[in-house]
Order: sequence, then structure tokens, then C-alpha cells
Amino acid sequence: MHHFHYVNGALCCEGVRIEDIADRVGTPFYLYSHATLTRHFNAFDQAFDGIDRLVCYSAKANSSQAILTLFARLGSGLDIVSGGELFRGLKADFDPAKIVYSGVGKTAAEIDSALEHGICMLNVESRSELELINQRATLMGCRAPIAVRVNPDVDPKTHPYISTGLKKNKFGLTSQAALDVYRDAHRMAHIDVKGIDCHIGSQITEAGPFRDALLRLRGLIDQLAREKIAIRVVDVGGGLGITYRDEQPPHPKAYADAIREGLAGLDVRLVLEPGRVIVGNAGVLVTRVLYRKEGDHKSFMVVDAGMNDLIRPSLYDAHHDVWPVSEAAGQRPVRADIVGPICETGDFLSRDREVPDAPPGDLLAVMSAGAYGFTMASNYCSRLRLPEVMVRNDAFDIIRKRQTYDDLIAGESVPDFL
Ligand SMILES: *Cc1c(COP(=O)(O)O)cnc(C)c1O
Repeated sequence: MHHFHYVNGALCCEGVRIEDIADRVGTPFYLYSHATLTRHFNAFDQAFDGIDRLVCYSAKANSSQAILTLFARLGSGLDIVSGGELFRGLKADFDPAKIVYSGVGKTAAEIDSALEHGICMLNVESRSELELINQRATLMGCRAPIAVRVNPDVDPKTHPYISTGLKKNKFGLTSQAALDVYRDAHRMAHIDVKGIDCHIGSQITEAGPFRDALLRLRGLIDQLAREKIAIRVVDVGGGLGITYRDEQPPHPKAYADAIREGLAGLDVRLVLEPGRVIVGNAGVLVTRVLYRKEGDHKSFMVVDAGMNDLIRPSLYDAHHDVWPVSEAAGQRPVRADIVGPICETGDFLSRDREVPDAPPGDLLAVMSAGAYGFTMASNYCSRLRLPEVMVRNDAFDIIRKRQTYDDLIAGESVPDFL
């Protein structure tokens, strides 16, 4: 469910014609619907009504200040994976007590910053990280609230690059290793054992893996209880998938039911870390067709956005629907690869499928680009980072300016010895 639809043949975001935005900001650009963002956050949060929970939106899906600010105002917490995301979250006015910090490679400086601001908890991914956190907390004279991230060894049945809860992945600790780390943590004067955590992957389209992971966690929670180590917070991570093409992921309500079932009988606070499911279908990438080109074997549609702007097709072979901004072009689909200006064969937005027959000059909307779009963008080939626009009802606002050529070399210097 989203707010991109045709009105009199013109693709609109809520009440604004996308073409009008393109006329003002140029192309390409990212475009987000305020109504979709709000609706998705509220639907997810309300699915857990009746449970003591904290929804911590996962910043890395889309961490633009306007989007973070919107979620902070809706009462969200934040799931972060770096000091940079902590900085962004604090600037967007998230209550530090609602911030959870995951990731296998936290530095001492990042840990210090998290402790100084009094975040909800650090999700510990290794024994050496636990030791460092205890050291830093000792120096600061505080107790660090932690959860241990468990790798439950369940197959989320998603792309291998975004599956994180298998034994062969770098994330978390096996139940046995986690148990040992909990025992140590429990004895450390500057560690407050607060919770347990897992995150098994992303774009997961069935409830089964979530259920299995929670079951594994429960086994460990029970064992810890027998050893008088009380778990007060259960963080089940993120990972709920969305429809890019024809996937049928569980509705947040069905997902919530699976979690509810898994938690039955426990007196704990639930933490959730959804990213993609909140923002994925709330954003599109708008690009303009530059050229049409007929090869011997294939037709190409060269557009002004490339893999540096949206890397998901090249990196994960991900499917994004492509809609014509002028509806008429969609009535005559053609077989063509939509490719960008980058000097790589992997630079495509769609490949080997039917796409709208849009002539040069026409606009296309690459759908479902709200998550892992802008945040994974780069300046490869010295291309400028794109602007981002948010629509609310009949109005739109540029929430990030397009970079300029001067931005490209900002911070660089040429040494005197040259
Ligand atoms: C990426 C990530 C998330 C969010 O994943 P989605 O699939 O976008 O919901 C949540 N928690 C952690 C630890 C992550 O790394």
C-alpha cells in the first residue's frame, strides 16, 4: 500500500504530479510520500498493540534527517549501527533512551559516545566487544546496558548477502557462546545485562524463520533464568520483507502474531527494528530517459540514474518495478534493459524484462526505492549525490539538495610536495 498513483494519465505522489517536481528539481531524484511513511510506521507499531514494545526504526534503510525526524515525532525509537547514525538520530531528536546499537565493529569512540548519551542498550556481538564495553564503562564510571546478539542459525530464505542469522555469517554468537558471554557479563561490575537480541536477515517473506529464531532465543532465556540472569528486553531485530514484484510477505499483523506467540508467558519488553518494511515502498527514484539504443542482441534504454544512485539491482540482482510517469508509455511495453551512465556492465536498473516504451525525454519511476536506495548511494564516477524530495498532500519540499561539483572535492587537498 502506497500513495503513488495515476491521475488523468500522470503519475502522482499523493496530490502532486511527479512531472511538476522534476521540472523544479531536475532529474534524477528520490521522492518520498509522507502519508505512506506515516501509515507504514503506524500500521507496524499498532500491530503490536497490547504488548509492551518499542519500535526502533532501523536508520540504515534511510537515514535522511527529514525521515528520521518524522519517525521520532511519531514516537519511534532508533536502531543504529554506527556513530554516524547515532549523530543523525540525536540531531533528529530521538530520545537516547529509545536508541539501540547493533553491529559487529563498534569502536571505542563509538561505544563512549553511546554511553555518554545514555542509549537504551548496546547489542553485543562478541566477547572481545563485551570486554571493551566493560572497560569503557569502567573508565566512565557507569554501567553499560547490553543485550547479547544471538545467531540462531535459521535460514531466512533471502538473498545470501542479506541473510545474517546463519552459523556461517559474521553476526552474533551461537547459543552456547552467548551463554558463556552472559555468564561473564553478569559478573562484570560495569555491565547491566538487560536483554537478548537477534536479527536474522532482511527482505524475509515468511513468518516461519522469525518463529524459529524466537524459539531458539526462548531456550536461552529459560536457561539464563535458571542461572538467575534475568532478561528484561527481547529485541527480535528487523527483516520483514516487502512486495517488490510478486512476493507476499506476511502483513505486520501476522508477523506480530508470530512474535506474540513466541513471547507468550514472558514478562519482557519487546524491541523491534524494522527498516525496509516502513520505508521501502514509500519512496521512488525518478529518472529521465536520455537515449534509446538498439544492440544486435538487446535494446537499451539509457537513463540519467545509475548504479551509484541505486545499487540494489547490481548488488543483489534485485527487482524494482519501473512505471512510466506518463501513463501512456506503459500501454506499449518493450523488451529493453534500463541502464545508467556508469562504465560498468553491472550498471542497470532493470534487465531482461518488459519495460514501458518511454522515448528520450520521458520520465520513469523506479518503484520501491525508499529503503537502501539513497543510503547506499556513492559518488562513483564523480556523479553527484541526488536530491531527495518529500511530498505531503499537495505540497512538496526538497529535504536534501543535489550535490554540486564543489561538494565533490570538498575536504580534498593537494600536498605541497607535488
Ligand atoms: C539492517 C538491520 C535491520 C533492518 O533490517 P530491515 O530488513 O530493513 O528491516 C535491523 N536490525 C539490524 C541489526 C540490522 O542490521
